[in-house]
Parts: sequence; structure tokens; C-alpha cells
Amino acid sequence: MIVQNVPDREEELATFSHVESEVRSYARSFPVVFAMARGAQLFARDGTAYLDFLMGCSSLNYGHNPPELKSALADYIACDGITHGLDLYNEAKESFLREFHETILRPRQLDYVIQFPGPTGTNAVEAALKLARKITGRFNIIAFTNGFHGVSLGALSCTGNRYHRAAAGQLLGGVTRLPYDGYYGSAVDTADCLDRLVADPSSGVDAPAAVIVETVQGEGGLNVAGTAWLRKVAAIARKHGALLIVDDIQAGVGRTDAFFSFEAAGLRPDIVTMAKSISGYGLPMAIVLIDRKLDKWEPGEHNGTFRGNCHAFVTAHAALEHFWRTGSFAASVAKKGNLLKNRLDQIAQKYDPSRVSVKGRGMMQGIDLKSGELADQVTSTAFQKGLIVETAGPKDEVVKCLPPLVIGEDQLSQGLDILEEAIDIVIGNTANTAA
Ligand SMILES: *Cc1c(COP(=O)(O)O)cnc(C)c1O
Repeated sequence: MIVQNVPDREEELATFSHVESEVRSYARSFPVVFAMARGAQLFARDGTAYLDFLMGCSSLNYGHNPPELKSALADYIACDGITHGLDLYNEAKESFLREFHETILRPRQLDYVIQFPGPTGTNAVEAALKLARKITGRFNIIAFTNGFHGVSLGALSCTGNRYHRAAAGQLLGGVTRLPYDGYYGSAVDTADCLDRLVADPSSGVDAPAAVIVETVQGEGGLNVAGTAWLRKVAAIARKHGALLIVDDIQAGVGRTDAFFSFEAAGLRPDIVTMAKSISGYGLPMAIVLIDRKLDKWEPGEHNGTFRGNCHAFVTAHAALEHFWRTGSFAASVAKKGNLLKNRLDQIAQKYDPSRVSVKGRGMMQGIDLKSGELADQVTSTAFQKGLIVETAGPKDEVVKCLPPLVIGEDQLSQGLDILEEAIDIVIGNTANTAA
């Protein structure tokens, strides 16, 4: 759809390449300048429309500029609602707290209090780790292979990715890495490793303050933890006096259909971290849910200037009110998650399972191409045909679909048509070459 020659593109991107740091990342995969966005679509400056299956890495579960949230925010701004108030009591926060309590926590009988850390996911993880260490008086944290928890030092210690870890430039301590569900194949129950290592006073694994886990590893390549494994890990943590932290930053807010990704497994984590789509509008906001009995913070002990993004409270409140008061939204997401799965299965079935397979759960599923190079070719081919989709996994070998949860079935299948075509071109070609 877009056919631009390279010199034009270089000129178009000159400001970014000259003024912005080399650290920029996602932009490199999609070298156009975007100007507008609505629903499931992003529009480039030249007017080209793209279907967005990246959605701010699951920060825009309700689509770009969802109308119900936009009007709530516009009204709030028009009335000179408070934009920044440190953590002063204010009406925007009050409305969010009340709605979250009534719509999310109470029906699920979850007795959590809410901490507002700094506005990003990694801030929530830092707060969770600090609190777990404070409560237990232990310092060790158990994190899993392929886990991603953010890139500030404490959270980075829990993150598995070597590229990100190496950038720390210093030792990352206080974490013991253990194998995630399925890491050694289906024959090995890695929860047993956890139990054994923590129980054995001579294993060399210090008593953990907490176990931090994602139910679906978003950045780690869409690895899914089984229900039985999650329950077992939760029970083992409890048995050994460690807190269970579920990092629901990417998999939460309906991405796997229920509001929390751990609902299906019936977990009751001690601490839950959320960010990405919690504001629902792409505004920075993070929360830490803390079991009321474990709220051992002293006033201001964990501080920060931006712990109350009122605009995000307004849109988060509107999102809960509009999408979560009944079960119909989650049901619609479950339906679309099945469509996504069926269609990805169909695509994969055309190829040898050793070359192409499906991973993930709900509306975070994708295609494992077993090769970062091939996955990269697929995403750039898809981009040329009007689909924005990114990769995940240790070698960036998984093409990860994160469509907005509100996407229409027609747009969902349109995006998957493009993905299928891109895979046919890239894998079909290499299959032919190999033959
Ligand atoms: C994105 C992510 C984080 C980090 O959030 P940031 O807002 O990028 O700091 C932490 N945990 C998980 C599971 C994530 O997907």
C-alpha cells in the first residue's frame, strides 16, 4: 500500500534521526510519521491507514481515542479540572477509586488497597518489590525465565532479557531465576523445582520475599502458564512465607478476556501490578494492588511527584464505567480471542509445526516462526501491506498480535489476512528456496 523510495523516507525522518537518541526502538520497525489515530487504525502523515495490532504494546485495549473516554476527558479539561495535584485528595481520584472498588474489586471479593506509584509499569514493579521486601524482611525475589518486568534497576533484576540486562552496566542482584512453566518441555513440572529449591536449606537459594510472575509472558514470547502450575506456584509461595506478585501490566485489563489475567486460575495474589491499559486512553498511569492486611507502608515511604495523573483517573474511571460494569465486554473479548486463535491455527496449519506454531492466550496470541530474522521479514512485509504488528520472544521470533479489544470482527480478519499473506510470502519463499 505504501510505496516510498528510501531517499524520501530519509528526508521525512530527518528530524528524528538527527535530534532523537539512538535509544528509540519501535519507531525503527515502522519508519513513517504518524499523525492521527482512531479505533484500530493509525494514519500516517501522508494519509495512509494502518491497522494497529501493536496498540502501544497493549496500552490501548479500548482502541485509539475511544469516544466515551475522550468526551469524559474533554469535559474535565474544559471545566479546569485539576491536572496535577501530587497525591492530594481530588475528585478525579475519588471517582476512580470508587469505581475500581465497586466494579472490579467488590464483585471479585478482592480486598485490595490501591497504591499509586510513578506512572509507568516499572514504577509499579519497583514499589511491589520494595513492599514485599519490607513486609517479609527478606531480600530475595524469585523471577522466571523470559519474564519481563521493566527496565529500572529493581525491575530489571527480575527481567530475563540479556540485552536489556546488559544495559544496566552494573550487577543486578537480589533475584533468583527459575524456569517458567514449560521451560524444559511438558515432561518437567518446573513448580517442583521451585518447591525443592526453596525448601532445601542448602540449595543456595535464599528464602524469598516474593515470587513475581506473569500469567502470559508478553515480551517473553507469549508463553502461557497453565492453571495448575499457577496454583501450585501460589501454594508453594504461601507455604514458604513468600508473597505472590502477579505482574498484570500487559496481560491485565481484559487482554486475556477477564479483567485480571489470573481470574481463570482463581488466584488471589498478595500484590498485583498494573499499568499499560489501566488508564484506557494511553495516558501514563500505574497502580499496585495490595492485600489490605499487607499494606505496611508508612506515609510517604515510597514517594514521587507524579503519583496522581488526574487525566488518567478520568479516562480510567470512564473505561471501567463503560466497559466493565457488566460481563458483556469480557464475553465479547473471549469470542474475539477464539476467532484470533482459530485463524492463527489455520495459518499455522499450512506449515510444518517445527517451523510455524501458535502461542498465547486471549487477545494476546501470535505466531512463532522460530527465527527472529523470518519474524522480522514478516512484520516488515505486513507493514508494507498496512498492518502494524511487532515481535516478542528471546530471539524476537514470535509475531505478536495485540489488536484492540474493541476491534470489529471485519477489521480483525482484515488484519489477519495481511498477516497470513506476509507469512505466505516470507515462509512460502524460504520453503521454495529450501526445496
Ligand atoms: C511493559 C511491561 C512492564 C514495564 O512497564 P513500563 O511501563 O514499560 O515500565 C512490566 N511488566 C510487564 C509484564 C510489561 O509488559
